[in-house]
Amino acid sequence: MPLIHGNMRGHTKLFAIISPSSRSGGTPAAVQVGDRSVALRGSAVAQGNRGFTLIELLVVIAIIGVLAALLLPVLGRAKARAWRAQCFSNQRQLTLALNLYVADANDAFPNNGQKDPATHPDPRTYWIGGGGHELFEAFYDESYVLDPQKALFAAYITAANVYRCPADRKTITVKGVPQQRLRDYALNGYVGGTDSIGQMLRPGYEVYRKVSQVTQPPPARVFTFMDVLPENVCMPAFIVRMPGDSIDGFYHYPATQHSGGAVVSFVDGHADYHKWTDPRTDRKARKNELILHNESSPGNADLRWIQARTTARIGGDISIAN
Ligand SMILES: [Zn+2]
Repeated sequence: MPLIHGNMRGHTKLFAIISPSSRSGGTPAAVQVGDRSVALRGSAVAQGNRGFTLIELLVVIAIIGVLAALLLPVLGRAKARAWRAQCFSNQRQLTLALNLYVADANDAFPNNGQKDPATHPDPRTYWIGGGGHELFEAFYDESYVLDPQKALFAAYITAANVYRCPADRKTITVKGVPQQRLRDYALNGYVGGTDSIGQMLRPGYEVYRKVSQVTQPPPARVFTFMDVLPENVCMPAFIVRMPGDSIDGFYHYPATQHSGGAVVSFVDGHADYHKWTDPRTDRKARKNELILHNESSPGNADLRWIQARTTARIGGDISIAN
């Protein structure tokens, strides 16, 4: 006898289960338990060992489907909240390291930019090691953040995973093996920026050497660490094209993997979650695409938001909108 039946008696049984008004549809039956006869109701028993009907199976599948549909968004939201909390925690540790460094360095910000023996040699150590995309090993080799010879922050942060945003689920391929990116955060290029990124910083704007230089806008309005779009992570500095630059667009894209937003830290030590509003900011990479720099995005309100929190014109004119 096949396990699943789709006969009319099965239909009667189904309605008998789900409709209290038709409970009398079942046929009484009895089984022997030891020396006692136990009366049972229901056509399934009356028909002998016939399993369950196709419709019963479909109902169970449908119920599981409904439960999954109800649960998955809840689980997804819980996971997103956990990732965002972890990203905040990472940036708190980066901010703490920055503050400790500044306290040890007589108020000076650490060197920031790109440092690559081949393309941007510099005898000094930067907050972390790393060049542009040519210095590929800086994207996976932990020594670029943990070795004191390569990273000033190595004196304050001893766990490499602090540098990785948990919402970055993309991988990079290292010697044919996909693996997680070492780092997703970059430090505002106008904070501690060196000559290595000199051509990328707009003349006429402050490049802050010391915390005490950050006055207008105030420290709560100048960002330090930015969550970077995974496919656009490159040098340790986050470069912002400022008003007056030849390109009204992004050099580096901010992250969008936190429900369309990013976690951003500021000079005063606080961190914010900011959700972007212009769909162009959520730059979707094609498979294996490395997003390049200086992509035009004219009039992008998110870029204006970042620009207003990047630096100020020398001389105190802060006429940047937002
Ligand atoms: Zn993040």
